Amino acid sequence: MIESFKHLAELAADRDLADVFLETDEQEHGVPGSQILESLRKRRQVMRDCVERGKQGGVSMGKLVGNEAKLLNQAFIEGRTFLDPLTIKAELYALSVMGENSRMGVIVAAPTAGAGGVVPGMLLALEEERHVDPEKTVRALVVAGGVGSIVALSANISGAAGGCQNEVGVATAMGAAAVSYMMGGTTKQCISAAALALKNTLGLVCDPVGGLVEVPCVKRNALFAVHGLTAAQLALAGVDSVIPMDEVVEAMVRIGRALPRGLKETAEGGLATTATGCAIGQRLKDEANQRRAERAAERERLAHERKAGVTS
Ligand code: SF4
Repeated sequence: MIESFKHLAELAADRDLADVFLETDEQEHGVPGSQILESLRKRRQVMRDCVERGKQGGVSMGKLVGNEAKLLNQAFIEGRTFLDPLTIKAELYALSVMGENSRMGVIVAAPTAGAGGVVPGMLLALEEERHVDPEKTVRALVVAGGVGSIVALSANISGAAGGCQNEVGVATAMGAAAVSYMMGGTTKQCISAAALALKNTLGLVCDPVGGLVEVPCVKRNALFAVHGLTAAQLALAGVDSVIPMDEVVEAMVRIGRALPRGLKETAEGGLATTATGCAIGQRLKDEANQRRAERAAERERLAHERKAGVTS
């Protein structure tokens, strides 16, 4: 088992990072590397399909989001964007995936559904814009998964456990390491990219409006996809995190414990308790009560009809 990033750095100092993760998985779980790669090829395709569907837009379950990808895509096609295409596509693909997630569409949790836009946003945009062989993207998914697995040895990957740093923050670290790998970075640079990405998400709270994975989650994924690309760029240029990745993870765990309950997915703090957040929360509650009342009335009407049928 790879117990820490320090251990990973020793094991994979001069080796291909994906190979090291595949070999370790095979030794530990008996799953051949070829099987893992095949499974990740399918997941990459699910991500791609999800991006294409997401660009079409649509309304989310809570009606708070859903058309962000469509709007950005239109602006991009019409030449109304000012950022470079790689950045735009990373944002766009992250928004597409999260739009699909908000409509209960099929996505790949990476590492969770709420943070599922960051990794595909970064990797698929890079693949397209820098003409990376899709097979390299598949191997980069091995790296992303491996990084997430090491974090998960000491941290619970959920907003309820430690805030959004544990979800979107970890996704950003996974994506940053994977992008560095795709760009030919060394193991040291991949780990540095993960550390740079994660340490700059520390303290990020989980405050979903109305308790739905819509606001701020959808747009947060797009913004942090760009954050992850920036971390990878710095690491590839030789910039070091100074604080090693294992210590960044430890800090994340401590900060997560220190966060108040209201900032850990309860919708009892942060953006969820702004005036607008509260009004939306109340509207969602009213609508849920209305649906419950309608269902109860329908059940009562059917019971009444059955009874009338029996006695006639
Ligand atoms: S705010 Fe909470 S629910 Fe939304 S993505 Fe972050 S951790 Fe997930």
